[in-house]
Amino acid sequence: MKTLSIKGNRGQSDIHIGESLDNLERYIPNDRRLVIITDSVVHDLYGGRFPKADVITIGTGERIKTLVTLENILDRLIEMETDRSAFIVGIGGGIVCDITGFAASVYLRGIDFGYVSTTLLAQVDASVGGKTGVNFGGYKNMVGVFNQPGFVICDTALLDTLPTAEFACGFAEIVKHAVIADADMFTFLEQNSQKALALEDSVIQRLVYDSVDIKAGVVQRDEREKGERRILNFGHTFGHAIEKTAGLRHGEAVSQGMVIAGALSVEKDLLRPDEQARMVALLKILGLPVRMAVDKEAVLDAIQKDKKREGDNIKFVLADGLGKALVQDVGMEELADVVKRL
Ligand code: NAD
Repeated sequence: MKTLSIKGNRGQSDIHIGESLDNLERYIPNDRRLVIITDSVVHDLYGGRFPKADVITIGTGERIKTLVTLENILDRLIEMETDRSAFIVGIGGGIVCDITGFAASVYLRGIDFGYVSTTLLAQVDASVGGKTGVNFGGYKNMVGVFNQPGFVICDTALLDTLPTAEFACGFAEIVKHAVIADADMFTFLEQNSQKALALEDSVIQRLVYDSVDIKAGVVQRDEREKGERRILNFGHTFGHAIEKTAGLRHGEAVSQGMVIAGALSVEKDLLRPDEQARMVALLKILGLPVRMAVDKEAVLDAIQKDKKREGDNIKFVLADGLGKALVQDVGMEELADVVKRL
């Protein structure tokens, strides 16, 4: 097991990579009552291994990531007479983590919480960094707070039951981390893609560790996304718009978004065409879609409404070679041009 830490505004978050769900109890102080929030799939698969706790089970899918689900959780916490001495742990993928963190942050003005992240995407991305929240008004993650979990357990053994398509979504964020911050990791991924696809534990653990290391470093320097943290949105401006328009999975949409961001980086002479080709090839090998097979106008329209839009320009993340990224203001017209040319 390896541990990385983030020192956030409201305390330290320790991320344990390679720790087991079976050791969860060790992370809960003795006198604290444990409340677990999970989803129905994870509960069916792993509920038998949960420590003694009150369990709240929510549904699955992006559509349940709403204030209504949050309200149901808060109702249950009140029914259970949960007080501030309780400790809440979300066991699940990104949806469970985001909603658990939000519920724990607002219930009684905030009680302690942690996560056991059970999808590759949650381990390499969603459970790290302290962004919590729900979708609202047709926008993703529109309502929420920044708040770091006390701990995160990334039990890579739980990934054995993850469907292939969900795995691919995690790989999209892993590729993103390599492209924006670590050329060596990118090469490692190229050389070990088959082992990664075969879920070889040493390879998966290294990829999770490197991803958490990159994300934790960025978050540590810019917790509230005033500057550097924006680079973590590489591929996400288009990714979110494609996800919303085409109803694709987050990682699948981000993969297409990274291809567009890469193409724009090439046009701006920041990324060489052969580097873009390597990124596209890697995404394909990892089972991710690289062609934008959606209504382009609808995607551009969704971007217009993107919450990160500031004035006429969007703070757009570009690859500055493989292993580095930068943020530039890009106009809507320029984005429309690149999409139409693709
Ligand atoms: P998810 O939570 O919907 O999980 C995907 C599916 O896998 C679900 O059906 C779930 O029940 C199932 N599942 C979970 N663990 C399993 C396991 N071990 N075996 C078998 N099935 C399992 O999706 P996700 O991809 O983990 O997360 C996506 C969410 O994360 C999105 O809502 C996105 O906005 C959010 N996110 C948040 C951040 C952040 O910084 N907070 C970053 C990236 C993504």
